Amino acid sequence: MSLVVIGTVAFDAIETPFGKTDKIVGGAATYASIAASYFYNKTKIVAVVGDDFPQKDIEHFHHRGISTDGLQIKQGEKSFFWSGKYHNDLNSRDTLVTELNVLADFDPIIPDSYQDCEYLMLGNLTPKVQQTVIERMHKRPKLIVMDTMNFWMDVAMDDLKVTLRMVDVLTINDEEARQLSGEYSLVKAARKILAMGPKFLVIKKGEHGALLFSENEVFFAPALPLEEVFDPTGAGDSFAGGFIGYLSKTRDISFDNMKRAIIFGSAMASFTVERFGTERLIGLTQEKIDNRVQE
Ligand code: AMP
Repeated sequence: MSLVVIGTVAFDAIETPFGKTDKIVGGAATYASIAASYFYNKTKIVAVVGDDFPQKDIEHFHHRGISTDGLQIKQGEKSFFWSGKYHNDLNSRDTLVTELNVLADFDPIIPDSYQDCEYLMLGNLTPKVQQTVIERMHKRPKLIVMDTMNFWMDVAMDDLKVTLRMVDVLTINDEEARQLSGEYSLVKAARKILAMGPKFLVIKKGEHGALLFSENEVFFAPALPLEEVFDPTGAGDSFAGGFIGYLSKTRDISFDNMKRAIIFGSAMASFTVERFGTERLIGLTQEKIDNRVQE
């Protein structure tokens, strides 16, 4: 049995009120798979990069026990590139550049060794590719969690709605929930989004925590107040990775266990934001994670 994570493996250039980076490694699948790997040791990624992506960064996945059999390397092509700038409140950001590059015609390959997938994390990338991955699984996974963002609502809303009908859990932030539903109230937004397909909805509110909705229940978890938030990039993906990693480990997809998964997801996100990129996430220990969950 395994957890398969799809999403971008990318280069990011980030600007926050505290500093700026040149191209560093990021991407939704990068953050989500690394976060999940602290809970579940059969994590596998499906993604695509160009030949500009350093081998040593692929090794980071292997050090965390993550399989990259489903990671395609396209010779002569460039990796996905995203650049963003955070506002002073660190809760909002502007996308400066999105270069799809290899993502533009990504045809995901699901190796035979991934067909034991029980938990599927559809990290942020083209909704059509998210659908294709579900269709290429011989057996429907027990739980499919999907993440997306405003970019895909702007350029591929119809495809996004089709994918939404195929998944169990959607994780998005408050701004995206409003855009997807056309409702300002998050309670109304949740009702509308649950009617679009998913049985559960997680709305992430950055430093203000996260909400979990099912048809009849609501749960709210605050975020841990941190002294220093340095770079929020990847917080949502680390959250999603921690969330599904915990569910994979405990093999329990009840609402009650999802409440616990939200706490573990929040803990992983709280580490990511403490440094640029994946720096903090990569060097964690079980003890540090347990302590943070207790906090
Ligand atoms: P988050 O801060 O959790 O929303 O995710 C940030 C990560 O998402 C960055 O590392 C980017 O490489 C990646 N990203 C940005 N835009 C997109 C997009 N349109 N599709 C997929 N991944 C993206």
